[in-house]
Amino acid sequence: MSKYLIKGASIFGSYSHNFKKPSICPYCHISIDVQKKKKNEHSFNGHQLFIATCKCTACRKNFFFACEYDSGKTDYDPIIYPAVEFVPYSNDTLKAISPRFIDIYNQALQSEFHNNLELAAIGYRSALEILVKDYAINELKKDPEEVRSKKLYDAIEIYLNQDGLFKTADVVRILGNDHTHYDRKYPQYDFGLLKCYMDIFLKNIEALYLINHPPVSRTL
Ligand SMILES: [Zn+2]
Repeated sequence: MSKYLIKGASIFGSYSHNFKKPSICPYCHISIDVQKKKKNEHSFNGHQLFIATCKCTACRKNFFFACEYDSGKTDYDPIIYPAVEFVPYSNDTLKAISPRFIDIYNQALQSEFHNNLELAAIGYRSALEILVKDYAINELKKDPEEVRSKKLYDAIEIYLNQDGLFKTADVVRILGNDHTHYDRKYPQYDFGLLKCYMDIFLKNIEALYLINHPPVSRTL
């Protein structure tokens, strides 16, 4: 989830370029196109400083941001008060399959939160391997020794024999591996694509688990 939206700076006055607007509420952490309550701009040393108070459209709480503006550049990240803090990921369904996956996935998410995308990509690939193997052991009841000995490439092929699962897991594996290589084979595919397929894979695994463990069923 991107922390910022690229918006036209004309909302602050007669400026023709863009600036980064915070897109995550520091209170409820929901992604928003925030409403500005009050805004102002100040000039200093030939630069402009945009400042605004905002109201979150989800939780209705107020927060503040300030952003340096330089014509034609959008590489200045705004400061936000209060600061957006990392919120650990939790998912009871995936935790039931693999508590270790939740731990590693959170480490990858923290790397992404701090913009360490190379480490995050490697972390997502590691989290994928743990989840695939724990899924095979705990859900498919495969022999743990056999599963542990498998390379991720083979584990995906053998244990995820559904088309959608197989293909999405392979995208994360291939792009995650690519971040561990000195020369990347697929530099044209960015981190966002890896993350997108990771999300699809997790939803598929969660759906499979829920289908296999219905809370109620028909009585015969
Ligand atoms: Zn909020």
